[in-house]
Amino acid sequence: MAATSPDLSTASRGIYLRLSLTSACDLQCAYCRPASLRGHREPPQRPPTNDELLALVSSIAATVPVHKVRLTGGEPLLRRGVVDLVAGLRRLLPEATLAMTTNGQRLAELAVPLRDAGLARVNVSLDALDEERFARLSPTGRLGATLEGIDAAVRAGFDQVKINTVLLRTVNGDRLGELVRFAAAHGAEIRFIELMPIGAGAPLYADEYLSSHEALARLKTVARHLGPLGFSGTARRHAFDVDGRRVVVGFISPVSHPFCDGCDRLRIDARGRLVGCLRDDDGIDLLAGLRAGRSAWIAEQVRDVLAGKGREATRWPVRTMYGIGG
Ligand code: SAM
Repeated sequence: MAATSPDLSTASRGIYLRLSLTSACDLQCAYCRPASLRGHREPPQRPPTNDELLALVSSIAATVPVHKVRLTGGEPLLRRGVVDLVAGLRRLLPEATLAMTTNGQRLAELAVPLRDAGLARVNVSLDALDEERFARLSPTGRLGATLEGIDAAVRAGFDQVKINTVLLRTVNGDRLGELVRFAAAHGAEIRFIELMPIGAGAPLYADEYLSSHEALARLKTVARHLGPLGFSGTARRHAFDVDGRRVVVGFISPVSHPFCDGCDRLRIDARGRLVGCLRDDDGIDLLAGLRAGRSAWIAEQVRDVLAGKGREATRWPVRTMYGIGG
């Protein structure tokens, strides 16, 4: 398949920037940051401050328009000053959509302050709906806290609340209908994401990987399929009817259908490094450049990374998902 770089001309809407706010997480999901990695943080010891993150975003936005920023991690809600950071981003990029991906454990208390600070969209990760399976997958978490977080987000009136579910054959492969029913009851879209053999996902991959194709086929046997809706971002969307409620189900297929073509994403990892592709092993230390006052160099790096985008990746990287943020 021919690959093309994203159209970053002034006529286009520019890039989608994903910022990892910390590599720390309060969950120990088996496929991401299991107990064996407890306490592990990625170097350096001095991660970017809020002001430094805002300065990095400002340098990037001075080089290429930014239409969307997503805060991720690790767990973004563990970062001290996260609400102030959202407010700072809102001031810096008044036109951009501000979004967050979170495990929801602290969302019940933070949903309203985040919305008031300017966050527009929230994706909450939820892979299991029963206590036993949730605990097996994420032993330090509380299912109830995530569910309360989702309720709080819906009540807070964000422009969009979505549920993110990683497809895991033995954890939720037989519970897809239940998860879709839950999303429908909350008026939320649900997106099923294929497990990637990255970090702790690699050793689980052989037993747990479930393709979007198979998940869609399974779902059609337990819910009424209303039809495909085409693509939105990286998700192929379908409408279903569950108990008389229409729900949109997205399938994100980085393994079976990589979406390199036209990808407009740039990432800053938890170490302040610029990463052009989730499948890159490493990044460029923009934070060091910022601390050394090298703004022209930063702009050059951003342009170079953008120029290299669109090539289809052929291998999976040696890196952790919680450092880069998915
Ligand atoms: N802590 C937040 C959360 O749980 O949503 C944000 C960070 S987490 C790394 C971002 C997303 O990546 C989550 O939806 C998580 O389920 C997903 N993820 C982590 N490891 C993955 C893997 N190996 N394959 C696919 N998705 C993965």
